[in-house]
Amino acid sequence: MSYRKVEKIIKGIQTTDGAGVNLTRIIGSPELNMLDPFLLLDEFGSANPNDYIAGFPSHPHRGFETITYMLNGRFRHQDSAGNEGILTDGSVQWMTAGRGVIHSEMPEQTEGLVRGFQLWMNLPKKLKMIDPAYHDIPAEKIPQVDFEGGNVKIISGSYQGIKGPGKPHTGMLYHNIYLKPDALFEIKIENGWNVFIYIYEGSMELDQTIPKGCLVVFEQSGDLILDAGPDGAQFIVVAGEPINEPVARGGPFVMNTRGEILQAFDDYQKGVLDKPV
Ligand code: FE
Repeated sequence: MSYRKVEKIIKGIQTTDGAGVNLTRIIGSPELNMLDPFLLLDEFGSANPNDYIAGFPSHPHRGFETITYMLNGRFRHQDSAGNEGILTDGSVQWMTAGRGVIHSEMPEQTEGLVRGFQLWMNLPKKLKMIDPAYHDIPAEKIPQVDFEGGNVKIISGSYQGIKGPGKPHTGMLYHNIYLKPDALFEIKIENGWNVFIYIYEGSMELDQTIPKGCLVVFEQSGDLILDAGPDGAQFIVVAGEPINEPVARGGPFVMNTRGEILQAFDDYQKGVLDKPV
Protein backbone atom coordinates (compact mmCIF):
# COMPACT_ATOMS: atom_id res chain seq x y z
CA MET A 1 0.00 0.00 0.00
CA SER A 2 1.44 3.39 -0.93
CA TYR A 3 0.33 6.66 0.60
CA ARG A 4 0.29 10.06 -1.00
CA LYS A 5 2.71 12.65 0.34
CA VAL A 6 1.70 16.25 0.92
CA GLU A 7 2.50 18.33 -2.14
CA LYS A 8 1.29 21.81 -1.15
CA ILE A 9 -0.29 23.55 1.81
CA ILE A 10 -2.34 26.62 0.93
CA LYS A 11 -4.10 29.20 3.05
CA GLY A 12 -7.17 30.82 1.55
CA ILE A 13 -7.39 34.53 0.92
CA GLN A 14 -10.08 36.86 2.24
CA THR A 15 -12.20 38.34 -0.52
CA THR A 16 -15.74 39.43 -1.31
CA ASP A 17 -18.07 38.19 -4.03
CA GLY A 18 -21.72 38.53 -5.00
CA ALA A 19 -23.22 41.72 -3.56
CA GLY A 20 -20.52 41.91 -0.87
CA VAL A 21 -20.37 38.51 0.81
CA ASN A 22 -17.15 38.09 2.81
CA LEU A 23 -15.56 34.74 2.08
CA THR A 24 -12.30 32.83 1.94
CA ARG A 25 -11.19 31.81 -1.56
CA ILE A 26 -9.11 28.65 -1.33
CA ILE A 27 -8.96 27.38 -4.92
CA GLY A 28 -9.20 29.93 -7.73
CA SER A 29 -6.67 32.32 -6.22
CA PRO A 30 -3.18 33.31 -7.43
CA GLU A 31 -1.65 30.69 -5.17
CA LEU A 32 -3.73 27.82 -6.58
CA ASN A 33 -5.54 28.77 -9.77
CA MET A 34 -7.15 25.33 -10.13
CA LEU A 35 -6.68 21.67 -9.29
CA ASP A 36 -8.14 19.89 -12.32
CA PRO A 37 -11.16 19.33 -12.41
CA PHE A 38 -11.75 21.80 -9.54
CA LEU A 39 -11.86 25.45 -10.56
CA LEU A 40 -12.77 27.18 -7.33
CA LEU A 41 -13.39 26.51 -3.64
CA ASP A 42 -14.86 29.16 -1.35
CA GLU A 43 -15.54 28.87 2.35
CA PHE A 44 -18.19 31.21 3.65
CA GLY A 45 -18.54 31.35 7.40
CA SER A 46 -19.67 34.04 9.76
CA ALA A 47 -21.93 34.70 12.70
CA ASN A 48 -22.15 38.32 11.57
CA PRO A 49 -25.06 38.83 9.12
CA ASN A 50 -23.24 41.80 7.54
CA ASP A 51 -20.79 39.29 6.10
CA TYR A 52 -23.45 37.37 4.14
CA ILE A 53 -26.78 39.20 4.10
CA ALA A 54 -26.29 40.78 0.65
CA GLY A 55 -26.09 37.29 -0.89
CA PHE A 56 -25.52 36.53 -4.55
CA PRO A 57 -28.24 38.28 -6.59
CA SER A 58 -29.04 37.24 -10.15
CA HIS A 59 -25.91 36.14 -12.06
CA PRO A 60 -25.12 33.71 -14.89
CA HIS A 61 -23.00 30.55 -15.20
CA ARG A 62 -22.00 28.34 -18.13
CA GLY A 63 -19.74 25.34 -18.67
CA PHE A 64 -19.32 23.75 -15.24
CA GLU A 65 -21.06 22.61 -12.02
CA THR A 66 -21.35 24.26 -8.63
CA ILE A 67 -21.62 22.10 -5.52
CA THR A 68 -22.71 24.05 -2.46
CA TYR A 69 -22.49 22.37 0.94
CA MET A 70 -24.23 24.21 3.73
CA LEU A 71 -22.83 23.24 7.15
CA ASN A 72 -25.06 25.81 8.89
CA GLY A 73 -27.62 28.29 7.74
CA ARG A 74 -30.41 28.73 5.20
CA PHE A 75 -30.01 29.94 1.62
CA ARG A 76 -32.63 30.07 -1.11
CA HIS A 77 -31.74 29.62 -4.76
CA GLN A 78 -33.94 30.63 -7.65
CA ASP A 79 -33.31 30.72 -11.37
CA SER A 80 -34.76 32.34 -14.45
CA ALA A 81 -36.39 29.05 -15.54
CA GLY A 82 -38.47 28.97 -12.34
CA ASN A 83 -36.44 26.40 -10.41
CA GLU A 84 -36.28 27.07 -6.69
CA GLY A 85 -34.91 25.36 -3.61
CA ILE A 86 -33.76 25.92 -0.05
CA LEU A 87 -30.42 24.89 1.34
CA THR A 88 -30.52 24.19 5.08
CA ASP A 89 -28.10 22.83 7.70
CA GLY A 90 -26.13 19.91 6.29
CA SER A 91 -27.67 19.95 2.81
CA VAL A 92 -26.06 20.11 -0.61
CA GLN A 93 -27.09 21.77 -3.85
CA TRP A 94 -25.56 20.25 -6.94
CA MET A 95 -26.11 22.58 -9.86
CA THR A 96 -25.12 21.75 -13.41
CA ALA A 97 -24.86 25.06 -15.24
CA GLY A 98 -24.27 23.32 -18.57
CA ARG A 99 -25.34 25.62 -21.42
CA GLY A 100 -26.43 28.31 -19.00
CA VAL A 101 -28.35 29.36 -15.90
CA ILE A 102 -29.14 32.75 -14.46
CA HIS A 103 -29.76 32.34 -10.77
CA SER A 104 -29.59 33.95 -7.36
CA GLU A 105 -28.31 32.52 -4.08
CA MET A 106 -29.67 34.53 -1.16
CA PRO A 107 -29.66 34.02 2.62
CA GLU A 108 -33.05 33.16 4.13
CA GLN A 109 -31.91 34.12 7.59
CA THR A 110 -31.07 37.50 9.03
CA GLU A 111 -29.10 36.39 12.07
CA GLY A 112 -26.92 33.58 13.39
CA LEU A 113 -24.22 31.42 11.93
CA VAL A 114 -23.91 30.77 8.22
CA ARG A 115 -21.18 28.39 7.15
CA GLY A 116 -20.39 26.26 4.15
CA PHE A 117 -18.47 25.67 0.96
CA GLN A 118 -18.99 26.26 -2.72
CA LEU A 119 -16.93 24.13 -5.08
CA TRP A 120 -16.79 24.63 -8.87
CA MET A 121 -16.17 21.48 -10.83
CA ASN A 122 -15.37 21.65 -14.52
CA LEU A 123 -17.31 19.85 -17.24
CA PRO A 124 -15.44 18.26 -20.16
CA LYS A 125 -15.80 19.93 -23.58
CA LYS A 126 -18.40 17.42 -24.76
CA LEU A 127 -20.69 18.18 -21.77
CA LYS A 128 -20.29 21.94 -21.39
CA MET A 129 -23.46 22.77 -23.34
CA ILE A 130 -25.79 20.13 -21.79
CA ASP A 131 -29.11 21.16 -20.28
CA PRO A 132 -28.84 22.85 -16.89
CA ALA A 133 -29.99 20.80 -13.87
CA TYR A 134 -30.43 21.12 -10.12
CA HIS A 135 -30.13 18.37 -7.61
CA ASP A 136 -31.03 19.38 -4.06
CA ILE A 137 -29.75 16.87 -1.53
CA PRO A 138 -31.25 17.21 1.97
CA ALA A 139 -29.01 16.39 4.95
CA GLU A 140 -30.91 13.15 5.68
CA LYS A 141 -30.06 11.79 2.20
CA ILE A 142 -26.32 12.03 2.93
CA PRO A 143 -25.20 8.69 4.42
CA GLN A 144 -22.97 8.77 7.49
CA VAL A 145 -20.54 5.99 8.39
CA ASP A 146 -19.44 5.92 12.03
CA PHE A 147 -16.20 4.32 13.11
CA GLU A 148 -14.20 4.29 16.31
CA GLY A 149 -12.24 7.44 15.50
CA GLY A 150 -15.08 9.57 14.13
CA ASN A 151 -17.46 9.63 11.17
CA VAL A 152 -17.68 10.22 7.44
CA LYS A 153 -20.55 11.88 5.59
CA ILE A 154 -20.60 10.71 1.99
CA ILE A 155 -21.71 13.39 -0.45
CA SER A 156 -20.26 11.83 -3.60
CA GLY A 157 -18.32 8.67 -4.36
CA SER A 158 -18.23 5.87 -1.81
CA TYR A 159 -16.68 4.91 1.48
CA GLN A 160 -16.64 1.29 2.70
CA GLY A 161 -19.09 0.31 -0.01
CA ILE A 162 -21.63 3.01 0.86
CA LYS A 163 -22.37 5.39 -1.97
CA GLY A 164 -23.21 9.08 -1.68
CA PRO A 165 -26.10 10.77 -3.52
CA GLY A 166 -23.97 13.12 -5.66
CA LYS A 167 -24.17 12.57 -9.44
CA PRO A 168 -21.00 14.01 -10.96
CA HIS A 169 -20.45 13.86 -14.74
CA THR A 170 -16.86 12.68 -14.31
CA GLY A 171 -15.18 10.73 -11.49
CA MET A 172 -15.44 12.56 -8.16
CA LEU A 173 -15.44 11.89 -4.43
CA TYR A 174 -16.58 14.37 -1.74
CA HIS A 175 -16.73 13.48 1.97
CA ASN A 176 -17.07 15.52 5.15
CA ILE A 177 -15.10 13.93 7.98
CA TYR A 178 -14.97 14.31 11.74
CA LEU A 179 -12.02 12.79 13.60
CA LYS A 180 -11.61 12.54 17.36
CA PRO A 181 -8.34 13.78 18.92
CA ASP A 182 -5.35 11.90 17.48
CA ALA A 183 -7.58 9.55 15.45
CA LEU A 184 -6.27 7.98 12.23
CA PHE A 185 -8.24 7.78 9.02
CA GLU A 186 -7.45 5.92 5.85
CA ILE A 187 -9.20 6.26 2.52
CA LYS A 188 -8.70 4.78 -0.91
CA ILE A 189 -8.36 7.28 -3.76
CA GLU A 190 -8.27 6.34 -7.47
CA ASN A 191 -4.78 6.51 -8.89
CA GLY A 192 -4.30 9.55 -11.11
CA TRP A 193 -7.09 11.56 -9.46
CA ASN A 194 -6.25 14.88 -7.86
CA VAL A 195 -7.13 15.11 -4.18
CA PHE A 196 -7.21 17.78 -1.52
CA ILE A 197 -8.42 18.15 2.03
CA TYR A 198 -9.57 21.40 3.62
CA ILE A 199 -9.43 21.56 7.41
CA TYR A 200 -12.17 23.77 8.84
CA GLU A 201 -11.90 22.85 12.53
CA GLY A 202 -9.07 21.43 14.63
CA SER A 203 -5.79 20.42 13.03
CA MET A 204 -4.00 17.54 11.31
CA GLU A 205 -0.60 15.98 11.87
CA LEU A 206 0.90 15.16 8.48
CA ASP A 207 4.68 15.26 9.14
CA GLN A 208 3.89 18.74 10.44
CA THR A 209 0.98 20.35 12.27
CA ILE A 210 -1.52 21.81 9.82
CA PRO A 211 -4.06 24.14 11.42
CA LYS A 212 -7.63 24.83 10.36
CA GLY A 213 -8.03 27.17 7.40
CA CYS A 214 -5.50 25.21 5.33
CA LEU A 215 -5.96 23.30 2.11
CA VAL A 216 -3.62 20.36 1.60
CA VAL A 217 -2.93 19.05 -1.92
CA PHE A 218 -1.51 15.52 -2.18
CA GLU A 219 0.47 13.60 -4.79
CA GLN A 220 -1.43 12.00 -7.69
CA SER A 221 -1.12 8.34 -6.75
CA GLY A 222 -1.66 6.18 -3.69
CA ASP A 223 -4.22 6.27 -0.90
CA LEU A 224 -4.57 8.77 1.93
CA ILE A 225 -3.70 8.29 5.55
CA LEU A 226 -4.64 11.17 7.80
CA ASP A 227 -3.91 11.81 11.45
CA ALA A 228 -5.97 14.26 13.51
CA GLY A 229 -4.32 16.70 15.91
CA PRO A 230 -4.80 16.83 19.71
CA ASP A 231 -8.18 18.59 19.40
CA GLY A 232 -9.47 16.40 16.58
CA ALA A 233 -10.25 17.61 13.09
CA GLN A 234 -13.17 18.44 10.84
CA PHE A 235 -12.38 18.57 7.15
CA ILE A 236 -13.61 17.86 3.67
CA VAL A 237 -11.80 15.47 1.37
CA VAL A 238 -12.42 15.99 -2.33
CA ALA A 239 -10.92 13.99 -5.20
CA GLY A 240 -11.54 14.11 -8.94
CA GLU A 241 -10.49 12.68 -12.23
CA PRO A 242 -8.52 15.34 -14.15
CA ILE A 243 -10.21 16.49 -17.37
CA ASN A 244 -6.92 17.56 -19.01
CA GLU A 245 -8.39 20.10 -21.43
CA PRO A 246 -7.59 23.79 -21.98
CA VAL A 247 -9.47 26.06 -19.55
CA ALA A 248 -10.66 29.54 -20.52
CA ARG A 249 -12.28 31.57 -17.75
CA GLY A 250 -14.32 34.70 -17.97
CA GLY A 251 -16.00 35.67 -14.71
CA PRO A 252 -18.92 33.26 -14.24
CA PHE A 253 -18.19 31.27 -17.42
CA VAL A 254 -15.65 28.46 -17.83
CA MET A 255 -15.07 27.15 -21.35
CA ASN A 256 -12.19 25.74 -23.41
CA THR A 257 -11.38 28.78 -25.56
CA ARG A 258 -11.45 32.58 -25.34
CA GLY A 259 -13.91 32.62 -28.28
CA GLU A 260 -16.37 30.46 -26.34
CA ILE A 261 -16.14 32.88 -23.39
CA LEU A 262 -16.94 35.84 -25.67
CA GLN A 263 -19.85 33.84 -27.07
CA ALA A 264 -21.15 33.26 -23.52
CA PHE A 265 -21.04 37.01 -22.74
CA ASP A 266 -22.77 37.68 -26.05
CA ASP A 267 -25.50 35.08 -25.37
CA TYR A 268 -26.01 36.53 -21.88
CA GLN A 269 -26.34 40.06 -23.27
CA LYS A 270 -28.80 38.88 -25.92
CA GLY A 271 -30.84 37.10 -23.24
CA VAL A 272 -30.38 33.64 -24.76
CA LEU A 273 -27.80 32.14 -22.35
CA ASP A 274 -30.41 30.01 -20.58
CA LYS A 275 -32.73 29.47 -23.54
CA PRO A 276 -32.97 26.03 -25.14
CA VAL A 277 -31.13 25.89 -28.47
FE1 FE B 1 -23.90 31.12 -8.67
